[in-house]
Amino acid sequence: MRKCVRILDVNVDDLTMDGAIDSIVKLLKDDKNNIICTPNAEIMMTSYKDDELRFILNESSMVIPDGCGVVLASKILGVPLKERVAGYDLVQGIFKLKLDRKIRMFLLGGAPLVAKRAAERYANLEGVEFVGYYDGYFTEEEEPGIIDRINELDVDILLVGMGAPKQEKWMYKNKDKLKVKISMGVGGSFDIMAGEVKRAPKFFRDNGLEWFYRLCKQPTRLKRMLKLPRFILLVIYKRLVNG
Ligand code: UDP
Repeated sequence: MRKCVRILDVNVDDLTMDGAIDSIVKLLKDDKNNIICTPNAEIMMTSYKDDELRFILNESSMVIPDGCGVVLASKILGVPLKERVAGYDLVQGIFKLKLDRKIRMFLLGGAPLVAKRAAERYANLEGVEFVGYYDGYFTEEEEPGIIDRINELDVDILLVGMGAPKQEKWMYKNKDKLKVKISMGVGGSFDIMAGEVKRAPKFFRDNGLEWFYRLCKQPTRLKRMLKLPRFILLVIYKRLVNG
């Protein structure tokens, strides 16, 4: 039974990192395709106005709070989430799993060759095998071929890194066509895994400043990032109005 906290009409799972990993191990035994979403404040703000995205988040098997802004929102609403569970860290947690057989993983998304490089850099994992990859800039005509390829490879976990809300909408549209146990949206994680982009140092991550680090590195993200303070202000407003 999931324990969720409702933030701007989205049910977010109240899990620790260990709890999220345990849930993933359980989902791997399931015989349906389970969608896992990893919203940060920016995605939560997008979903407030995007009914389709909000619907998809609420239909997913797991929704983890990727950003500290989501955890802060839960505190403002008086229903604090246990902790931030960053999508990137959750993937690293999956990489450490050692089940009775290797987890078969497919990477879909990122610029050409990024997913390939990411798979190559992590090729020596004990419990996870990368069985395929494909970039995230394919045409609609290419799509059925990609899905066939994933299905032929007997994939357990499909990581989809095409940015939000594209990845969530793609995963939901193809939910029943994909014969995988888990489809998980991971944003720009392949760029970090491939060594193309540096993750914020621990100090920034531990102090809720990852957004600031990313902003300094990529100032063009400013417009997107303005969604973060707008999200917090909206949550404060909702708290004041609803008591
Ligand atoms: N991307 C993609 N297909 C697209 C648009 C984006 O594969 O049509 C990839 C892009 O190359 C990048 C990721 O999606 O690797 C989005 O990264 P971003 O940093 O925006 O995601 P975030 O981590 O902030 O959700």
